[in-house]
Amino acid sequence: MKLFVIGCGQCGGRIADEFCRINVKARVQRGIDIVTGIIAVNTDIADLSGLSFIRRDYQHRIVIGGQRTSGHGVGKINELGAEVARDDGDKVLEAISTSPQFAETDAFLLIGGCGGGTGSGAIPVLTQQLKDRYPEKPVYALIVLPFKHEELTEERTVYNAATCLKSVYLVADAVLLVDNQRYVRKNLSLRRNLFRINSSIVEPFYNLLCSGEEKRPEFIGSKILDAGDIIQTLTGWTVIGHGKAPIPRINFPFNIKGDFVDKVKEAQRGVKAINEAIGELSLRCNPKDARKALYFVSAPHHEMNVELMNELGTILKRLAPDAIIGSGDYPREKHVLNVTVILSELAYVGKIMDYFSRVILYLATKKRGAERPQRGIEEAFRDIPSLL
Ligand code: GDP
Repeated sequence: MKLFVIGCGQCGGRIADEFCRINVKARVQRGIDIVTGIIAVNTDIADLSGLSFIRRDYQHRIVIGGQRTSGHGVGKINELGAEVARDDGDKVLEAISTSPQFAETDAFLLIGGCGGGTGSGAIPVLTQQLKDRYPEKPVYALIVLPFKHEELTEERTVYNAATCLKSVYLVADAVLLVDNQRYVRKNLSLRRNLFRINSSIVEPFYNLLCSGEEKRPEFIGSKILDAGDIIQTLTGWTVIGHGKAPIPRINFPFNIKGDFVDKVKEAQRGVKAINEAIGELSLRCNPKDARKALYFVSAPHHEMNVELMNELGTILKRLAPDAIIGSGDYPREKHVLNVTVILSELAYVGKIMDYFSRVILYLATKKRGAERPQRGIEEAFRDIPSLL
């Protein structure tokens, strides 16, 4: 599957930069392209200058709202981020349509943090513009949710998150949710943490996107996961998880081929990796709420068999009984078995409902004093201001 990636704001730009890095890796190591273009869009020139892999020309690093903000960003005002995206959206659409490989694009992926100003405001607007211009192509948004300390200390962060999430949900084909807090390594500096978080966010996409683009017969899986399968799965609120289990090197002549102990360990590796994937979902949620799910295994040829795929399918079905479950395998890796799980069309996501409730409460108290509004989810959704 080939994506056209659009990073918005500082967070979005950095994660898009990571996509650029893994595309270079795919090209060098496998002779495969997994993106058709990558651009970064920002109101802040300094943020764009800090990127490493995305090309430096104005068609790839696009400044929007230059006249309004003089290239210094929108602060945390996501309404302003939305406004400048509306005014300068043409610049972005032109950069996309003139990109040389654009015709091969299977889907768009917009990326940004919902707690800031530029990404939070621009993503819903650009998503809508892309849907209007290319109605036949899926548009996905990968939205990064703020750290806990940001939610606790900055009221505006939660407001931005709620308005961005509501607006983007209305226009995107799927919203991939990534909670920064889930990736925190407590003993690392913030900068180092962000770097680690960004590479963990992007890691599961590497094999997932390469699989359908593979050309060498020895690396074609028995059930190839192509763009169509992924598009079928991605709908509405979505989370992704990734788990791996190392495979010890076979040490002939000491290892007996077909040893029953090795066989048992083989099965355990798959179970360990899928459990890790479910345990490390990009946002905590209940798999029972998923209406669609997908599991994808990449491992050496000799590690993959029908039994393993059946077992993983059974585990996922038990966890997500109401989901239509898809699968794929990719015989590529050498010393590791990777499992990626996607849960999609989630009927309920606690963290998002919490943002919505907090914003409604905030708006209500601003309007009418401290009375707590009692509302259902649908009503709550309606009451959140839209950026569109
Ligand atoms: P914008 O430039 O105005 O869109 O604002 P930011 O992109 O800085 O958005 C702020 C939110 O994104 C906050 O919740 C930050 O924690 C988060 N954020 C900023 N940079 C990064 C990053 O490189 N990686 C991750 N995972 N989150 C980031």
